[in-house]
Amino acid sequence: VEETLVLVKPDGVARGLTGEILRRIESKGYSLVDLRLVQAERDLLERHYAEHEGKPFYEPLLEFMESGPVVAIRVAGERVIEGVRALMGATDPTTAAPGTIRGDLGRDWGLKVQQNLVHGSDSPETAARELDLWFR
Ligand code: ATP
Ligand code: MG
Repeated sequence: VEETLVLVKPDGVARGLTGEILRRIESKGYSLVDLRLVQAERDLLERHYAEHEGKPFYEPLLEFMESGPVVAIRVAGERVIEGVRALMGATDPTTAAPGTIRGDLGRDWGLKVQQNLVHGSDSPETAARELDLWFR
């Protein structure tokens, strides 16, 4: 069965939204396979976000992601990768659709990086690579 990596980012953990985000994933019918609270190291984040290296938000993104603990979750289910992406909503929390995690719980805080509460792998290849990084 398909698996994906979900991260509750530091803003989600700091705001006490971990339970709410887990609730939405579980209520949708997906299974939690593994879960850990991680203070991410620079090296892990650089590998996780390698595709964004050189972009203007890259450094602020890494600083944000190492600003506090994240909750890493291995989630399983049929078509879970696209299902979790749909639950999360669009990247920009200001315009993410209401009903989604980002649309209901996030907004712009006037920072250089979009603090948008969650991450979800975007393809089977990415999911395999990311799960290996966060759960080795
Ligand atoms: P994620 O990969 O975290 O699930 P995503 O796939 O919706 O989110 P990406 O394009 O992969 O978005 O960007 C990774 C992260 O970088 C975003 O979640 C956001 O935190 C930040 N980000 C992306 N684009 C911008 C931007 N234009 N300005 C500021 N921050 C951004
Ligand atoms: Mg992405």
